[in-house]
Amino acid sequence: MPLLKTPAITLKSRKWGEADRVVTFYTLRFGKLRGVARGARRIKSRFGSALEPFVCSDLNLFEKPNDPVYRVTQADIRESFARLREDLTLISAAARMVNLVAAVTAEGDPSPVIFETLLGGLRALSHGHDPTLTTLLFQIRLLGRTGFRPQTDHCAACGSTGEMTRADHPGRFSPEAGGLVCSTCARRHPDRCLPMSPGGVAFVQQALRLSPAVLTRLRASGQVLAEVEAAIESFVTIVAGKRLPPVDFLAAEGNPPVYGLGTIS
Ligand SMILES: [Zn+2]
Repeated sequence: MPLLKTPAITLKSRKWGEADRVVTFYTLRFGKLRGVARGARRIKSRFGSALEPFVCSDLNLFEKPNDPVYRVTQADIRESFARLREDLTLISAAARMVNLVAAVTAEGDPSPVIFETLLGGLRALSHGHDPTLTTLLFQIRLLGRTGFRPQTDHCAACGSTGEMTRADHPGRFSPEAGGLVCSTCARRHPDRCLPMSPGGVAFVQQALRLSPAVLTRLRASGQVLAEVEAAIESFVTIVAGKRLPPVDFLAAEGNPPVYGLGTIS
């Protein structure tokens, strides 16, 4: 069994057996994978806090024959993101990020861009950028990198381009179709479309196009943010095949921090 090494970000972790953990990682080299860490729940575990959610670590792994679950032999912290486990708002924002990555990726399908997008999102949260805006931008960018790019250039349902290039386009976002739809398509399912103003469309387009360094300067009015959030929330729910916990779900319910994350996946 060859030893494999890769940078990895912990998506979630659950108890396994007497003293072990099964941890889901998004790794740079192998994409999403699950690994068993033997003895990880013992007080003097060699893993320390390296397997906690949101931690970016250097993993040593063994692949076992005919077993999709790897054996984790070592995890050395690169970036602990400790701050993201100390504040309820940050916990829930970071949990939203890792849960979305877990939901939209398949095991063993590596994408360095997804790894970097997640790492960048966690760093932005950790550096004190606005959690709600940061999480919204992260979701739009991640969707754009996983084949679920929110469509704003042509009708997401029929593909027509005429209306979308006009300033007075209908401004209807269909979560089912995955983007803006023309007035003909919007009329077919008026109850399933959400309003999106030109400002909202521009926000989504800039979130997809701008480099991360410039992105932190992107601003929008409360109204624009609210409509984009509503549209992306509905789209993400469909993409993920289930409703993800809202960004402020822990703070809103006054729950204690959930470090295992097993209950919110
Ligand atoms: Zn259409």
